[in-house]
Amino acid sequence: MKITDTDVIVTCPGRNYVLVKIETDNGLIGWGDATLNGREKAVESALKFHILPELEGKDARRIEDIWQMFFRNTYWRGGPVLNSALAGVDIALWDLKGKQANLPVYELLGGRTRDHAKFYRHCGAETVAKIVENCKEAINEGVEYLRVNLRSDPIQYIDLDNIAEGVKSTREKIGPEPNLLVDFHGRADPVEAAKLAKQLEPAELYFLEDPVRPENPDVFELIRTHSTTPLAMGELFTNPWEMLPLLERNLVDFIRTDLSHIGGITAADKLAAIGDHHYVKTAFHGPPDLSPVGFAATVHLDISIPNFGVQEHPEYFSEPEDSTFKSMFQLPSPSKIDEVFSGGAFISDVEGAVNVSDRPGLGIEVNESTARQYDFKRSHLPKPRNPDGSVQDW
Ligand SMILES: [Mg+2]
Repeated sequence: MKITDTDVIVTCPGRNYVLVKIETDNGLIGWGDATLNGREKAVESALKFHILPELEGKDARRIEDIWQMFFRNTYWRGGPVLNSALAGVDIALWDLKGKQANLPVYELLGGRTRDHAKFYRHCGAETVAKIVENCKEAINEGVEYLRVNLRSDPIQYIDLDNIAEGVKSTREKIGPEPNLLVDFHGRADPVEAAKLAKQLEPAELYFLEDPVRPENPDVFELIRTHSTTPLAMGELFTNPWEMLPLLERNLVDFIRTDLSHIGGITAADKLAAIGDHHYVKTAFHGPPDLSPVGFAATVHLDISIPNFGVQEHPEYFSEPEDSTFKSMFQLPSPSKIDEVFSGGAFISDVEGAVNVSDRPGLGIEVNESTARQYDFKRSHLPKPRNPDGSVQDW
């Protein structure tokens, strides 16, 4: 199965997505997701000028070999641009392998370990009353996992001064059953994170995500020593090895890495296996800046690994209600998404869960001519500042 043609398409059906297309001499087409939010053109260039030309003529069946070639034979390795590009190639090759075998990708990964993958919904707001209202709406739809970030205003992602009381109050109002999640977005200092993780214990969180910034894993020991709140980490990691110190020292409970940044299905599957040996579950990143191709790949992995925890759900299935975010982000347009992509992951008949079909490969197709009509639009995530004018993490 020789690779005969390759391409990269940056499309913007409301939000920018970087799609990798690989064609083979037996007439198959594989699709991958290489989206890197805010740096889409950097990934496109890496693919167009450095990576895709080297792919042509290669045997598409040799996924692991191609992964090693693009990770190690580039000499300079890893990082968000190169590993997102590599992820796009890897996901497209898994799509091709499934299509060649006439099997869904989850069968190639060992087959189903579960009938569906439960997802979590973002219920965060600026008041506890609104969070509770969002939670009740989600619970009525059968959603069992709820992210309950209390924020001070839209650009201040989390209100650390009031988060402990806010989440405990939310818990009291919605009862003990739903699984609650909080994401600090790397905004706390280590001591502050440890203190808050302890204060949040009565709320019995499913996990506390990104308590601190991602560069220094050693600080997790302080948080771990002082609290039994489960910890999730990894959405900003751009190679699998960044996760290892946290797993080897049993400092986290959930792997939050993103398939399209960590190096695709090949990298995430191995990382999940290492996590399983440490009794760590997955909660793979699934924001709307992951394209439906990337999300389909993620759900194929979710339903085939033994240690799946929960899946973040992109919001492109429906317009977000919270209009404050519309001025801050590129938001995918559900109708345009439907024009560009067909198939892929879908809301399961079982409430609060997503699934994929048994169609070969990833089970998703891209309408290429429509994708090309929606041109790239320059965009980036918000760039918040502290009250004194200094840089704050988004
Ligand atoms: Mg997060």
